[in-house]
Amino acid sequence: MEFKPSEISIIGFLVENGIVNERGEAISFYDRPFLYDPMRDWSQYQCYKKAAQGIGMSVTMLLKSLYAAKYKGLSPIHTFPTDSDAVEFVTTKTNKILQANPIFRGIQSDNVERKQIGDRFLHYKGTISKSGALSTTADIIIQDEKDRSDQQKLRDFESRTISSSFRGVWSLSNPSVDGAGVDADWAESDKKEWFVTCRNGHAHPMTWPESIDLVLKVYVCAGCNEPLSDDDRRRGKWVQTGDPKAKFSGYHMTLMFAPKISAEYVIEQWDEGKNPEYFNNFILGEPYSPGDTKIERHAILDNWTPKNIDTGHYYLGVDVGNVKHYVLGSEKGILQIGTFTEWHELDKLLARFKPYSVMDAMPENTMAHHYKDTKENFFICHFSADKENNTVIRWGENDKKGIVFADRNRLIDRVVTELLDGKILYSLPSDRDFRTYVKHCGDLRRIKESNNMGVERYVWDSLTGEDHYFFATLYWYMAKQMHVSGAASMVDSRTPQAVVQTKEGWRQNLEEVLEHRTNYGGDS
Ligand SMILES: [Zn+2]
Repeated sequence: MEFKPSEISIIGFLVENGIVNERGEAISFYDRPFLYDPMRDWSQYQCYKKAAQGIGMSVTMLLKSLYAAKYKGLSPIHTFPTDSDAVEFVTTKTNKILQANPIFRGIQSDNVERKQIGDRFLHYKGTISKSGALSTTADIIIQDEKDRSDQQKLRDFESRTISSSFRGVWSLSNPSVDGAGVDADWAESDKKEWFVTCRNGHAHPMTWPESIDLVLKVYVCAGCNEPLSDDDRRRGKWVQTGDPKAKFSGYHMTLMFAPKISAEYVIEQWDEGKNPEYFNNFILGEPYSPGDTKIERHAILDNWTPKNIDTGHYYLGVDVGNVKHYVLGSEKGILQIGTFTEWHELDKLLARFKPYSVMDAMPENTMAHHYKDTKENFFICHFSADKENNTVIRWGENDKKGIVFADRNRLIDRVVTELLDGKILYSLPSDRDFRTYVKHCGDLRRIKESNNMGVERYVWDSLTGEDHYFFATLYWYMAKQMHVSGAASMVDSRTPQAVVQTKEGWRQNLEEVLEHRTNYGGDS
């Protein structure tokens, strides 16, 4: 039996058919030798933590998806942050490649979202999408620009592969912050780095600033400072630096190993560290997190106290999910935490402690209203920012009585600040619930987000969604505030941010933060 090269491997397919890219140029690995292994990689789980431009990964994934449909009988869904990103990709890349290569002749380009190859389909979808959910099944989900996509929607797309025998997930993105998006996949990968060997035989991955001579503006060996030629970088190879048995086949792609990118260009982009976030994410392909963006375990353990902080006044916060998490405390700190699934457990708590209570209004809106309407000092919380009056917490009046509105981000800022300042004490047994509590608090990250207007800001985000005790703590804090401030709105005299954006880029803002803490210190 004879096989055509195309049937044997994707490289054979590219060569046999003289496949060209969207600009009509032959696919060549000469200037992108680091794409050779990723092109041939058919692992079920793959992740590419990459610099933004000039790598060629999106087209590599496109060629792999076309090959997968044509020769492997697999149907991919290629996802992008938004529908318009998907449309742009199809019109500028997919359609161009389909039209330029005779092997794909006959595949119509009218339907933007869907292409048919043989009896297989390729779908192109935005995660932020006006069109309805996709009901089709698929074998591979290609998550392009994962870190800018709707993460919940990505999980929904993954469920489309449930009946597939392949069930591939291939993620590619320039990273954002530690532990999120593609960096989370990378953490579960074999962590392949592109090792370059100098003439003295030292093999190192290209790292900043070790691999660049800032004065001579050339790439150098991180071991002996011997200059590295473009060919030295071309002759690099992928080396696993993590667990070879890890779930993902992972590749880290910095711009520094691309033969066409000069050391001088990288130094220019560094721009004396004026925008480290951009430099890390887009040039080095590394996540970047400014300091103080996470509630460290020790921050909570430092606030643990053997003293009695029971004052006889009780405040209760309840986070509602399948399992309800509650946090009960006095105005000094937390006295008791726990979970329940049956509502009568909540009734018992209310009867025993007669607390001021705040519970989230969602997802069980009917029960929330029932408690608000029938129990004393019981409030339900909606998160919504008050753009006009600059308040963190607003207590509803008249027909909104019993409802409390909170600016989620600024409330979290406030509670985390108090936690770090030692103003929230813990008088709890060191048991499993407490360990879970610490874990839930550590799940929150403050990350930079850019809204649909293109305005960037830091927001609190949950890494895994396992943050229930932390949110119950927010509700406890609001209930306490209700009593202390007598239902007056809690006006924020402009909470200073620890990191602010200026004309020159991001900068630390510690003076203002410290001053603010001094002014607001000593209350409660
Ligand atoms: Zn060397």
